[in-house]
Amino acid sequence: MAHEHHEHHEHHEHHEHHHEHEEGGVKESLIRIIASALLLAVAVIIEHKLNLPTWQLLLVYLVPYLVAGWDTLKEAAESLSHGEALDENFLMSIATIGALCIGFLPGAESQFPEAVFVMLFFQVGELFEGLAEGRSRRSIAHLMDIRPDTAQVERDGGVVTVASQDVKVGETVVVVPGAKVPMDGVVTEGSSTLDTSALTGESVPRNIASGDEIISGCVNLSGVLRVKVTKEFGESTASKILELVENASQNKSRSEHFITRFARVYTPIVVAAAVLLAIVPPLFGGNFATWLYRALMFLVVSCPCALVISVPLAFFGGIGGASRRGILVKGSNYLEALARLDTVVFDKTGTLTEGVFEVTAVHPEIVEERELLHLAAHVESLSTHPIAASLRAAYTDPDDGCSVENIEEISGKGISAVINGRKVFVGNSAMMELCGAKWHPCEKTGTIVHVAMDSDYLGHIVISDRVKADAAEAVSALKALGVARTVMLTGDHEDVAKAVAGSLGLDGYYSQLLPADKVGKVEELLATKSDSGALAFVGDGINDAPVLSRADIGIAMGALGSDAAIEAADIVLMDDKPSKIADAVKIARRTLRIARENTWFAIGVKMLVLILAAAGVATMWMAVFADVGVTVLAVLNSMRALR
Ligand code: ADP
Ligand code: MG
Repeated sequence: MAHEHHEHHEHHEHHEHHHEHEEGGVKESLIRIIASALLLAVAVIIEHKLNLPTWQLLLVYLVPYLVAGWDTLKEAAESLSHGEALDENFLMSIATIGALCIGFLPGAESQFPEAVFVMLFFQVGELFEGLAEGRSRRSIAHLMDIRPDTAQVERDGGVVTVASQDVKVGETVVVVPGAKVPMDGVVTEGSSTLDTSALTGESVPRNIASGDEIISGCVNLSGVLRVKVTKEFGESTASKILELVENASQNKSRSEHFITRFARVYTPIVVAAAVLLAIVPPLFGGNFATWLYRALMFLVVSCPCALVISVPLAFFGGIGGASRRGILVKGSNYLEALARLDTVVFDKTGTLTEGVFEVTAVHPEIVEERELLHLAAHVESLSTHPIAASLRAAYTDPDDGCSVENIEEISGKGISAVINGRKVFVGNSAMMELCGAKWHPCEKTGTIVHVAMDSDYLGHIVISDRVKADAAEAVSALKALGVARTVMLTGDHEDVAKAVAGSLGLDGYYSQLLPADKVGKVEELLATKSDSGALAFVGDGINDAPVLSRADIGIAMGALGSDAAIEAADIVLMDDKPSKIADAVKIARRTLRIARENTWFAIGVKMLVLILAAAGVATMWMAVFADVGVTVLAVLNSMRALR
């Protein structure tokens, strides 16, 4: 816990640092870099025109050196006084100061322009790095430019524009065509179509009318809407999503940890090598100035910037690119796990199927059809289960003022309530066993909802659900990507499970499971999967939060508007499409490839320059070009992950 806290703190500081860097810093850095470059040119001209003694020449070159490097020197001195010697500021300061001093050694050529150039170019790299990191952090949020800063609110009989965070729950906001919906709410007047693509990556507009719930971040396409606000700004869907994406960098991937550790080991090693290089060969008769110069080059090359920035930036890109397609990833560790996905476990209802049931048959035993529907609809009057909605929809008679009391929902079985003084049970066969009613199976295919009063069996209602249009494609796409097992878990009856699993080409299914059984099944599957593979559970967030958190990767589907799913899952698919899982795997693999490319490229180039430096072939110019060049290329490569 203490560790986590520490990391958070670090992250925060880092963030602020770059923020500061961006505000006024960019312009200032740029001006200083240009000024220093011009002064360097002047100094070179002076050196060639006037024959100055070495110490006067040093003063001439110190001007551009300090213009470019003052901050770096200051920070190096500060971190030295805090006892953290080996940061890049320190390395660069030592290397350049050393280069400035070489000129005073007997028999050595002066390296003043090199020293200034190294410092100058280091600043260019720093600027670029700060810009890239700050930009990618914000570009993820920007890409998802989903949260308007202002809202049009009806107040005192007029419409005023106020900051979104000042809008209160219960107030009415007006959303004109072309505007983004600023707050979550319910439409009270008007109808329109909404473009949800910023949230879901889905381009088909959604029709809405008075009474519908709408969420912040959608774009209103056609009519004027009046919306009664149901959530505060900070609680709105758009805010939640932005928060989630911005915090994603705290869940670091293993490759990020690796690179930080690598830099921590590698930097001291190179510094030690530099010291040896400066001392040992001269002991055996080498020229001290020559070997000192090579050693200083070691220090320049050892600067870990390019390494440290290359991997996190690739993951930033990957997370940003995924969120553009309506796939929210809560951390780069999950991208890494996705790339080695091996088992995918699907929940059935609402995940592989639409979760919108329709009553297809009513088979009463000892009561009338109407009475059976009436009882079922009343017991389900407050349930949010998809089955409940279909039963309420099937009972169209006007409300007859029945009393409904003691509603008790039993997850994975059904629900009971006291209707007009009699206890009524609605649910699957397990529910019937529970109340002792003599139920019997039905020859119809579909989900069978049994109804009993006390322990008398009243009959059953057959409802069916449609398999999602892209479900089969989702399964085959995952198989094509090398996913070894696709399994479905459901609380529904064996017959339904078999039919659905068969039609989708799933490798297996387990039926009649209670939510707790689902956790057990996932644990079994976790135990039998290959060691290197990862297991994902895909659910709709309704009663499967425990399973979502047990799996290596919890993927919540159709999370638009469902806070619970956004909280419980590691990856959130903003639309209802299971086929997005395969897209996510592709993005994850691409991101990892880019991160790996960056790592090996950065390490490779550095090693090469180190060898050339030790052999005396490389110059300090090459060393700094190598570092800054690698940083720039790694940044550009990472930007590919965004697309
Ligand atoms: P799934 O695993 O398909 O997502 P659930 O775990 O939500 O399904 O529910 C399992 C079974 O329990 C359902 O198929 C249904 O038979 C029964 N059930 C659960 N809740 C209800 C309810 N509110 N009304 C009727 N039946 C229910
Ligand atoms: Mg479910």
